[in-house]
Amino acid sequence: MILFDTHCHLQDPAFDDVEAVISRSVEAGLVGMAVCGYDLPSSHRAVELASQYAAIHATAGIHPHDAEMVTDADLDAIRALALSGNLVGVGELGLDFYRDLSPRDRQIEVLDAQLAIANEAALPVCVHSRGAEDVIGGQLRRYAAASPLTAGGRHPGVMHCFGGTLEQTMAFIDLGFLVSIACSVTYPKNEESRRIARELPLASIVVETDSPYLPPQEHRGKRNEPAHVRAAVLAIAATRGIDPGEVAVRTTANAHRLYGVAAPAPAGANAR
Ligand SMILES: [Zn+2]
Repeated sequence: MILFDTHCHLQDPAFDDVEAVISRSVEAGLVGMAVCGYDLPSSHRAVELASQYAAIHATAGIHPHDAEMVTDADLDAIRALALSGNLVGVGELGLDFYRDLSPRDRQIEVLDAQLAIANEAALPVCVHSRGAEDVIGGQLRRYAAASPLTAGGRHPGVMHCFGGTLEQTMAFIDLGFLVSIACSVTYPKNEESRRIARELPLASIVVETDSPYLPPQEHRGKRNEPAHVRAAVLAIAATRGIDPGEVAVRTTANAHRLYGVAAPAPAGANAR
């Protein structure tokens, strides 16, 4: 099975054995992993990992939880990374009105600044949205309309680990966004997530682990890692009643299109 984890945090301190984790992932069939920054140090570390491993791609951004502490200099540094040619996306960015760890006005300012950076660099965005779907819908509508990616027939971004309703999800797909299904789709209570995985067009779905968070049901309570993205693929296939191999091929192709990266060379060429 060929797989692509569109959102993970291998720069997290939980991965003190990152080399072994990446080897296991490649052995499990992962041809790509997007390591997403959430603040400045984690964004720099993502770029560093991408320079070391062919299967790793980096994004850089400021998580809405950290919006309060962010300075103009931090945003300038994210912009410099975005224009450096070393990123495949901007984010993790967004709004979180569920945990509200930063003031909402500041979250919106930091989101807008990063959406502008993404459009300047012509990069897709990795969006975190929790409890803020109506507000972020307006921001993303304006962003997507101005995105050079939209004009070129590409996706302006991906809704990462999206926890909204099917109707909200369809609204983001109408804007050109992809929707990323996480391993939490395997949790017994997550019926709405399985409904989304069943109803969305396959052309709009990618998969992710959000490692080290959100392990699949069979590994709950433990650290998640990119190799487990297979559990999300199996759950999507089961709920749709189709072959897991087809889900793997389609979601991997979608991820390559999203991030503008080519399918990699065959096995053996993973380390560089
Ligand atoms: Zn994340």
